Amino acid sequence: MDQAEKRKQLIELDKKHFIHPTSSLKHQQEHGAPFIFTEGNGVYLTDITGHRVLEAMSSLWNVNVGYGRAELAEAARDQMKKLAFTNCFSSMSNEPAIKLAAKLANLAPGHLNAVFFTSGGSEANDTAYKLARYYWKLKGKPQKTKIIARKKGYHGVNIGATSATGILSFQEMAISPAPDFLHVGPFSAAELKKLIETEGADTIAAFIAEPIQGAGGVNIASDGYFQEVRTICDRNDILFIADEVITGFGRTGKMFALEHERVVPDMMLLAKGITSGYIPLGAVVLSDAIQKELTSGTDGVLLHGYTYSGHAAACAVALKNIEIIERENLVENSRIMGAKMLEGFRNLQQEVNIVGEVRGLGLIGAMEIIHPATKLRFPVPVAPEVSKEAAKRGLMVRTVVFEGMDTIVFAPPLIIKAHEVEELLHILQQSLIAVQKKVM
Ligand code: PLP
Repeated sequence: MDQAEKRKQLIELDKKHFIHPTSSLKHQQEHGAPFIFTEGNGVYLTDITGHRVLEAMSSLWNVNVGYGRAELAEAARDQMKKLAFTNCFSSMSNEPAIKLAAKLANLAPGHLNAVFFTSGGSEANDTAYKLARYYWKLKGKPQKTKIIARKKGYHGVNIGATSATGILSFQEMAISPAPDFLHVGPFSAAELKKLIETEGADTIAAFIAEPIQGAGGVNIASDGYFQEVRTICDRNDILFIADEVITGFGRTGKMFALEHERVVPDMMLLAKGITSGYIPLGAVVLSDAIQKELTSGTDGVLLHGYTYSGHAAACAVALKNIEIIERENLVENSRIMGAKMLEGFRNLQQEVNIVGEVRGLGLIGAMEIIHPATKLRFPVPVAPEVSKEAAKRGLMVRTVVFEGMDTIVFAPPLIIKAHEVEELLHILQQSLIAVQKKVM
């Protein structure tokens, strides 16, 4: 069977049997899967037809060390042959989980020294909300239950994480969000202060924020915002949870994004880049004070655990992945290549009339599409057209078009080299020009 025939067959099976996550199921039925990828190498993916693309999103902001890393496959194989999995309930343990917890404690700033493992970011979020409430209960303040999150924030799709997510369409699909979740504007510390006053600090368990909002369109708070947030939380006895699921492990040019602001949260949520997507894993890194309080609970029993909390093979892959990030100085590369990418976006802003605001920090960035005459958005989003043109020319980007946005977002693997950034920018330029001709 040739590749074209094989592709056709796979597309039919995909339509019939595969419910895709966060996808238009109607589009799938009408057009089939746009890509069936078969291979990855560095910053490139190749699909079943042999079409190669520079993958400028690290898939879902997570393949930080790039594709095709044999070392990570070997780490998984070696651990699986020895001991793939055994549960960590009832205080049982395994070597990779212990070593990874110690490594994360070492990497994490300040008082963040204890780690609870999950299988991904949504589970890390739900764990954090439960632990925050439990912490206050143990401290004799069981009425502190509310979680304040930010508008346009994204925290995952479990019922708790969906309820914290500040993107309306996700909330609406969940129909009946969990109680005690509130939302504030993403960049105003004053608004947060006001909401705390209105609700009463004695009813609030935690404030949660992504240091840079990813899925919400790569929204970056102004300098000093998170320092103010830290002060407000401290003054009101509210835990500060940083969702570093996207921003962790070098994405922004620091190992963790809040380091830019020299702010230490009470809990730090990790996933994605922790294994660069080679195997599912997430983590909640807790402060010493929270660990101490949990330990002193009713007989110190923690009735919260996933079957895969502390999965030996996943932890072994994470350890190797972090070793690669450190050995290859990928955090520094993210800073340098990120600055180059942003400079390129600024040049495109001068050259191409439909490019509005551009922004970024390290290897996470965004570009707004605007109508040059009005400087406002087009009536129908144009970014998806740019994305289609780019894919044809060999570049994969992602677009954010909810709630009136018309934005292209970028998060290439942290291994990207200067000439690959140039290739990204060149294809982007050609795609923007092609779309501009069509829409103007
Ligand atoms: N938090 C943030 C900031 C995310 O971007 C995501 C996923 O995109 C999540 C949490 C949820 O993680 P997962 O999809 O691994 O459950």
